[in-house]
Amino acid sequence: MTAQTMEELVSLCKRRGFLFQSNDIYGGIKGLYDYGPMGVEFKNNLKQAWWKSIVYERDDTEGLDASILSSPVVLKHSGHEDTFTDPLVDCRACKSRWRADQLFENNKCPNCKSEDLTDPRPFNLMFKTAIGPVDDGSSFAYLRPETCQQIFTNFKNILDSTSRTVPFGIAQMGKAFRNEITPRNFIFRVREFEQMELEFFVKPGTDDEWHEYWINKRIEWWVNQGIKKENLKKIEVEKNELAHYSKRTVDINYVFPHGEEELEGVANRTDFDLGSHTKNQNDFKITSEVMKNSSSTTKLAVQDLEEKKWYIPYVIEPSAGVDRGVLALLNEAYREENVDKDNKRILLSLKPHLSPIKAAVIPLKKNKEELVNLSKEIKSNLQKLGLGRVVLENSGNIGKNYRRHDEIGTPICLTVDFETLEDKSVTVRDRDTMKQERVSIENLSEYYKKYFN
Ligand code: ATP
Repeated sequence: MTAQTMEELVSLCKRRGFLFQSNDIYGGIKGLYDYGPMGVEFKNNLKQAWWKSIVYERDDTEGLDASILSSPVVLKHSGHEDTFTDPLVDCRACKSRWRADQLFENNKCPNCKSEDLTDPRPFNLMFKTAIGPVDDGSSFAYLRPETCQQIFTNFKNILDSTSRTVPFGIAQMGKAFRNEITPRNFIFRVREFEQMELEFFVKPGTDDEWHEYWINKRIEWWVNQGIKKENLKKIEVEKNELAHYSKRTVDINYVFPHGEEELEGVANRTDFDLGSHTKNQNDFKITSEVMKNSSSTTKLAVQDLEEKKWYIPYVIEPSAGVDRGVLALLNEAYREENVDKDNKRILLSLKPHLSPIKAAVIPLKKNKEELVNLSKEIKSNLQKLGLGRVVLENSGNIGKNYRRHDEIGTPICLTVDFETLEDKSVTVRDRDTMKQERVSIENLSEYYKKYFN
């Protein structure tokens, strides 16, 4: 079961501290959200799972964390200054603005239904900001619209400092900014978001095979995070809809509460980017249409040792949205269940490695010093195992604590009661089955570790 509506998720996220409208107390800003105490843990866990699978568990990738402020020269050569646009139309009647390709009824304003719309014109989605103390327009930077361009501009630095050879990849996670015309559907389409991007460099001619490999790998990863395979769709992007750099793109779509849309895109960017950022492009047979006469001082190429020739590698790029991942996984994990004929509960059946809180330790009575001290000790010992956040719940209301931890997806709750003082055991309650069992404190670390592995 998933959530039935987006409203159910929005409400849970606010109630339990996953997500808040940004600048809320001043009325909010459209397209911006803040991750609260549970949201930040959940998002970090998701990013960590990606990093682990893309960097730590492979032997052919490196990581990077580059600056967000980007030189206009880079974004000129990448094609973004000229082509990173959406078609914008204005409604002359109600003065609202829309993305022409997202009008539900052709040529009708979704707000007032007027047909008095302007012709579509390209609107560049990049945010600009001044660099340095004088804001006279001569010195500015863009907030990066995707994380990958700095991977390309650092290509040589990384090659030189790691001695990698093709095929290999460079991974980066972090913020990207797009001045979306109509941000909507909660955190699905926002103006500030995070991406998890891998640029995987391969020899031309092997790119089609590597592309297939990464499409399948990425679907497998999302399934391992808890998304049902039948809710993921592989969509071939039509030739006339491909981004300016792409030879072929396959979108991994997910059935979100508002409908099926892109969760991740896996593109074959060919030699477009490295080619565009390379000096003396004429030395290479670059297959894509790239900007000629790059002002770069660097040759972003590698040597084919057998053929003794330099070439520009092709790039396969799996690019996933962190926030869209958060939304998809919250939706997948959402359950509403009847506990008995009078009581319902909501729970997030998240995979334990993604749960914001791994375990809650709850003393049965809040002011009983022996119970509270023992609970603190148990909490501290579990925390030291380094598997994520463990909390002490010192409110004395077991029922309320169970409900709260079901809703934020905590896999286990440990209750310390008066019997614990006698038999040195705690009651462990499982989130999904609600089954309870006694586990001795001595065995708790092993029990807990096994639970998470
Ligand atoms: P869309 O067609 O939905 O606008 P896109 O094709 O422009 O997306 P890409 O440029 O391929 O998106 O970006 C890679 C990933 O970044 C997307 O799959 C998505 O998960 C995420 N992403 C892109 N734009 C946004 C946004 N405005 N808000 C949240 N996530 C986004």
